Amino acid sequence: MKTKRGQGKPHKKPGKDKNMKNNKANNNKNNNNGRKANNMKKANEQNKASERARKGIENANNKTEQAKRLIETANDPNAGIIAKHMARMQLIFMLTCNMHELKYNENGEIRGGKIAGIPSLDGHAVSCAFCSFMRDLANKFPELKIICGTCYACDAREQMKATAQIAHARNALILSSVEFTAEELAALPIPCDVSRPYCRFNEDGDVVNETHARNLLKIANTHIFIGFGLWYKNRAAVYPVLDEEGVPENVEIIFSVPRVSLKPEQILKLAGRHDNKVFAVFETDEEVDNAVNNFGFVRCNGIKCIICGFRCYKKAGRVLFIAEKKRGK
Ligand code: SF4
Repeated sequence: MKTKRGQGKPHKKPGKDKNMKNNKANNNKNNNNGRKANNMKKANEQNKASERARKGIENANNKTEQAKRLIETANDPNAGIIAKHMARMQLIFMLTCNMHELKYNENGEIRGGKIAGIPSLDGHAVSCAFCSFMRDLANKFPELKIICGTCYACDAREQMKATAQIAHARNALILSSVEFTAEELAALPIPCDVSRPYCRFNEDGDVVNETHARNLLKIANTHIFIGFGLWYKNRAAVYPVLDEEGVPENVEIIFSVPRVSLKPEQILKLAGRHDNKVFAVFETDEEVDNAVNNFGFVRCNGIKCIICGFRCYKKAGRVLFIAEKKRGK
């Protein structure tokens, strides 16, 4: 039976089907090729990035090995004066001050951690013997609620570049192994100016030993236009040095209470003779409210020091007790 035009199968020009199929096949082929090229480009970029990261870590580790050799020379009584001096100055220029630049998100809010906008001269919580001791204590006696068991600095490690972690460990090693003179430490570049006049010691890690404490105080004494916040838990390393040398005018000594949710009345008794601030962490908002409303604690909003006006870094004329709600785990 004949099919009328427009009924049944539509009329097609001979060869059109074939052309369409060919075009489709070509398009698919082009798309596949494009995808393959994109995937190859991405894989290449990833390879290059991991190679760069590998080299960065290798360089950072080499630098630490070099620092260890320089420390030996700096402390060697038989080394010549010039060799010693050169070693000590090289070590100072190996110290890394982290600049936490102010960056904003698309809503105009400040990005980054609490100390966005100011530098920090860090140690290293993972390799610090005191921090390790406190972490072990926290694991053995969970009922004590020792904050070091859920250390912010250790938790932040996953986001922190491997090279930064190596640099932090190197800082702690250098500052705890060689006692520098004030003149030598005056050469340490700290990226502060009138718009960012504060610097935090040890955002990561604690004061390792008395040599470390002495060096930090000398850095403060030779950078008198910068206000430093020295957070510590290791009183055994800090207090003998403060007893001998006193607290520089431009340093705020901030004792960080090792236990979470201690009663405010107990915390009030923890301020040592050199402390300007006592910083305590609580598990709940109610506990923070109680410390603030009933015991005169200052609330740390825990968001950004720049928004709070760098209260911890400024003289208050009395010991300030600061309460913060625990972050993270
Ligand atoms: S009280 Fe202010 S300055 Fe101190 S840690 Fe909290 S936000 Fe930073």
